[in-house]
Amino acid sequence: MPTADIEKHGFQAEVKQLLDIVIHSLYTDKEIFVRELVSNAADALEKVRLRQLTDNNIVDADLPLEINITTDEEKNTLTISDSGIGMTRAELQKNLGTIAHSGTKAFLEQLKEKGDSNADVIGQFGVGFYSAFMAADEVEVHTHSWDQEAGEHLVWTSDGSTGYTIEDSSGIARGSRMVLKLKEGQEEFAKADRIKAILEKYSNFVSFPINLNGETVNKVEALWLKSKSEISTEDYTEFYKFVAGAWDEPRYTMHFSADAPLAINSLLFVPQENQEQFGMGQMEAGVSLYCRKVLIDAKPKNLLPDWLRFVKGVIDSEDLPLNISRESMQDSALIQKLNKLITKRFLKFLEKQAKDDSEKYEEFFTKFSRFLKEGIATSFEHQESLATLLRFESTMTDAGKLTSFAEYIDRAKEDQNEIYYIVGASREVIENGPYLEAFKARGIEVAIFTDAVDQYVFDTMPEFKGKKLVSADRADIELDDVATEGEALDEESLTGLTTWMAETLGERVEKVEAGKRLVDSPVAALAPQDAPNAQMRAMMKAMGQEAPEPKVVLEVNPRHQVIKNLSALKDSNAELAAMVTQQLTDNALLSAGMMDNPQNMVNRMNDLLAKIVE
Ligand code: ADP
Repeated sequence: MPTADIEKHGFQAEVKQLLDIVIHSLYTDKEIFVRELVSNAADALEKVRLRQLTDNNIVDADLPLEINITTDEEKNTLTISDSGIGMTRAELQKNLGTIAHSGTKAFLEQLKEKGDSNADVIGQFGVGFYSAFMAADEVEVHTHSWDQEAGEHLVWTSDGSTGYTIEDSSGIARGSRMVLKLKEGQEEFAKADRIKAILEKYSNFVSFPINLNGETVNKVEALWLKSKSEISTEDYTEFYKFVAGAWDEPRYTMHFSADAPLAINSLLFVPQENQEQFGMGQMEAGVSLYCRKVLIDAKPKNLLPDWLRFVKGVIDSEDLPLNISRESMQDSALIQKLNKLITKRFLKFLEKQAKDDSEKYEEFFTKFSRFLKEGIATSFEHQESLATLLRFESTMTDAGKLTSFAEYIDRAKEDQNEIYYIVGASREVIENGPYLEAFKARGIEVAIFTDAVDQYVFDTMPEFKGKKLVSADRADIELDDVATEGEALDEESLTGLTTWMAETLGERVEKVEAGKRLVDSPVAALAPQDAPNAQMRAMMKAMGQEAPEPKVVLEVNPRHQVIKNLSALKDSNAELAAMVTQQLTDNALLSAGMMDNPQNMVNRMNDLLAKIVE
């Protein structure tokens, strides 16, 4: 070729800047240049495919649509060819000499502002064709356009520094062939095994065959883009095993597509087991982000809330490329939108599963409830949907049978504006405690929670569907009067007694008051509003924090024989009455799980016994 035919061009200033960043950054994930070039090839093929639908006047119309990649260790080259649309001379200059993308320009602006060529930023950003220069010190692009009229066979060459040349060439079939002359130190990219691994990681689902040294590499179908009617359960299982690296079968499969407000195709799975239950540490996010079958990020951080880390699968959004893969992903508004939309859909899906097959759902719930509870405590916007998914025992279910807040509300009297719950170590402990009797006597249901995290969950959730969530051990609960057997102590004696008891107990109690809630017990210790209750105190202690004996509100049952007798005893034998009062308080603290130092109580009990046998 005579030198006169060589056209020399300089790069646009922005391209130079971008190349400078690409080449000189310490970016470790160099391998993504393969993904970028293969994606470009797939785009070019897709464009031919679309054109063929309406135009039968295309150059080399019979060429199969495929990507061919060859490695040459001897020459230290990597060649990526496609039978796509190719480029004309004008297109070469425009596409590979300037930057048209607003996203790319914005990215460069951002870097300029930050004043560094931060490697992390590049990692989240698709650098496109120019990324080839991370690994190559010379790139040739041989190309021939689909357009009959363009007609030229061309080769574009550059060392990625100041500019490029375009020469005439000949004998090129439709499409583009990128020949990368690899840099010293980048020999790995001339190795077939290395390239194969990269292709399997990023380009497994590209819809055109990718042949590496003559062998097709991408064999897994992008199942999420197929219609549900064409997919069998086995296909789903097979795919789940592939994306989740799993051996079991999925517990749940959610295949979901939408066009608006975002174009989404997603395929999500819930595995059989909760890995974290086995103490294997916190899982990583398990849903990968794709854009038209090409992997953008295998473990994107903010794509789904952290508490959905047990979900495996794929989310593919066509809306991504222009906006997102070209910009910092982490806090992009689009990712947030995707996050919100898919989380909502997934929770709805679970709700439906619970309705359709409650037994299967409860099995899921028992294994995965911690994630839902974590969600309640951390994602306010999904709190109600998540609370709908909670299952628990209650005073109205048999042991081992689960119910939900929706069922609770159905059973409750219409004018009951609260949902009562209690958190404790076990159902047995709770049922033997002093708090349920008042509710039982009034036919009010109390939801029973026994997981260590439950108290935190309720601390962040004040209500459910307009009903206040109220802990059954709170002092400020107002319950209707209930007809109970036995004459109560008269008002005057009662006031006298409670005042005297309060004086006797001094610092041990916040106050002593006559209450309506008790039926069988003489007194109950109630946690004052805002004070840590028994569960919280247990947790504080477990975490090594101080949990001093609380100043409780002591509720007195005016119908109880001990109380009636105590009223008389305080006038006849104040010393003994005081001991009984202390002991009653100890009993109440003990059964409320708020007794920290039983030694005092044992001593007092012995004194009391001595008095009685005297
Ligand atoms: P992007 O792919 O984001 O557009 P690139 O820098 O990777 O950015 O590529 C710039 C342009 O070059 C592409 O938009 C496309 O028009 C053209 N191009 C790149 N690779 C090919 C190819 N293999 N065949 C045809 N055109 C290509």
